[in-house]
Amino acid sequence: MSEEKKVDFYDFEGLLDKAYEELPENVKQHSSRFEVPAATVTISGNRTIIENFMDIAEAMNRDPGHLLKFVLREVATAGTLEGRRAVLQGRFTPYLIGNKLKKYLKEFVICPVCGSPDTKIVKKGRFHILKCEACGAETPIAHL
Ligand SMILES: [Zn+2]
Repeated sequence: MSEEKKVDFYDFEGLLDKAYEELPENVKQHSSRFEVPAATVTISGNRTIIENFMDIAEAMNRDPGHLLKFVLREVATAGTLEGRRAVLQGRFTPYLIGNKLKKYLKEFVICPVCGSPDTKIVKKGRFHILKCEACGAETPIAHL
């Protein structure tokens, strides 16, 4: 039991606001199961490596290529996927990387109407929308 590895998770409650409290019980239960591992970041020379990048993308249920593109644009650098890791040019703190991942969640994963992470991105004509499986809300995405 003491061998169990401690894993840190982001605090999603802060993202969800108080709309969360008005949700039906089944949605709440779903939301509370939503856990994305915190980024494991190592800096090697002039590169920053997100060791568990694929785990994060899978937990978010989003395309790793899209998540990486977002992070790279946010920190204004180049980078690639290497196996299950993401390798970024330049040195970035785990704190900064964590903030960008939270920003991604807010823009591309969490439903702004009900706070559920049970969403998907769908294309409607020329636009992309965030479609919520829990409440049915369709929220336009500013940029993809
Ligand atoms: Zn919703």
